[in-house]
Amino acid sequence: DTVIVLFNRDLRLHDHPALAAACERARTVVPLFVLDPAVPTGRRTSFLLDSLTDLRAGLREKGADLFVRHGDTVAETVRLARQVAAGAVFTSADVSSLARRREQRLAAERIGLRLFPGVTVVPPGQLRPAGGDHYRIFTPYWRAWTQTERRALAPVPAQITVPDDLEPGKIPHAARWGAIPGGETHARERMRTWIGAHLDDYSDRHDDLAGDRTSKLSPYLRFGCLSPLELAGHGNEPFIRQLCWRDFHHQVAFAFPEIARADYRPRGHRWRDDSDATQAWAAGQTGVPIVDAGMRQLLAEGWMHNRARMITASYLVKHLRVDWRAGAAHFFELLLDGEVANNSGNWQWIAGTGNDTRPNRTFNPIRQAKRFDPGGAYVRRYIPELADVPAALIHEPWRADRPIPGYPPPFSL
Ligand code: FAD
Repeated sequence: DTVIVLFNRDLRLHDHPALAAACERARTVVPLFVLDPAVPTGRRTSFLLDSLTDLRAGLREKGADLFVRHGDTVAETVRLARQVAAGAVFTSADVSSLARRREQRLAAERIGLRLFPGVTVVPPGQLRPAGGDHYRIFTPYWRAWTQTERRALAPVPAQITVPDDLEPGKIPHAARWGAIPGGETHARERMRTWIGAHLDDYSDRHDDLAGDRTSKLSPYLRFGCLSPLELAGHGNEPFIRQLCWRDFHHQVAFAFPEIARADYRPRGHRWRDDSDATQAWAAGQTGVPIVDAGMRQLLAEGWMHNRARMITASYLVKHLRVDWRAGAAHFFELLLDGEVANNSGNWQWIAGTGNDTRPNRTFNPIRQAKRFDPGGAYVRRYIPELADVPAALIHEPWRADRPIPGYPPPFSL
């Protein structure tokens, strides 16, 4: 019979359990992606389209194709299922409330929906603490996560047979945005070169803002151009720990679908509604160089170093006392890796409404800057106005004798 494989955040051929299972079970397989206007892609559009083009090329090498449809994912999947008389629809289970609703609607259509793992290393919900449905604290989760048995990597199908009379559908063009090109081919290349060059010093260098030594694989993981399980198999402990953080936030989002809207642990915060402060923060004009450098990196590149994400987020919620939801919305819109579970989970962690065991912690931006950008190279890279400020004052330019032309005094310290 025929099985549809509905692609979503799993735009790859390597270690794709749903695709491998479909090829094993059915003679004819229909790889499908639906461009759905209900799924906001913002700046991620060109990355997504690049990834689809690459996936299509990979499938064509196997004698197949990627069938692309436009519209409501459920309606288009059902329509195609009827058209090709599909016996089942296989897809990778996801965690966001949008994805979960879609899975429920597909299941209700009685088209033989089957969910497969692949979006995380360990499927959300697999690990449960005694007496609870999910882990709320990272360290015990990490312990259980490292000890649990992993599934085997799914094999890449050698050959895939698709119906020969089916219109493939067009992948639209979009101007490339950002410096990170989408697609599994680039993802695997980046994985290989980064592991070869930088994995060994990840532990020592990952917090060096100017050195910029982290993997930058996050957009690929976000769209599933890389299998997190496969990547974990190549990592060392400090790196794998980060992949575990990703799983951790995904299992929280799975258990608490309101993660993007509601406080995970309400602690009675009173946020200020201050649009001037929020705008200055978003524009990289707070007058605190390390904060502005991070926010300008986000504007320019659609990506920000993790240390800078923590500093800028903490500044918004702890110094400006603006609601974390405003910050998370801005990040979500601009990040190439923007994604509900990691974004909201990390924002809530910083805001003290999430899983942090020290909810009152505040990152001191000046101390953080001196520690993680000691020479000021990161700040100078993104704030040309500060190019000539001497190193001793680069993180506190307000201490200079004269104001710096074109650079504002600090909003709040
Ligand atoms: P590496 O250091 O090379 O780590 C490898 C992978 O581990 C990353 O690609 C990512 O998938 C995962 N990872 C690393 N750190 C974290 C973390 N703290 N939480 C969850 N997963 C992690 N990450 C996103 O993917 N999407 C987001 O929308 C997002 N929003 C964030 C918002 C805030 C306020 C903060 C503090 C962090 C956010 N992160 C988010 C997590 C983290 O900053 C990025 O995953 C990381 O910077 C990506 O760069 P990298 O691939 O070079 O990371």
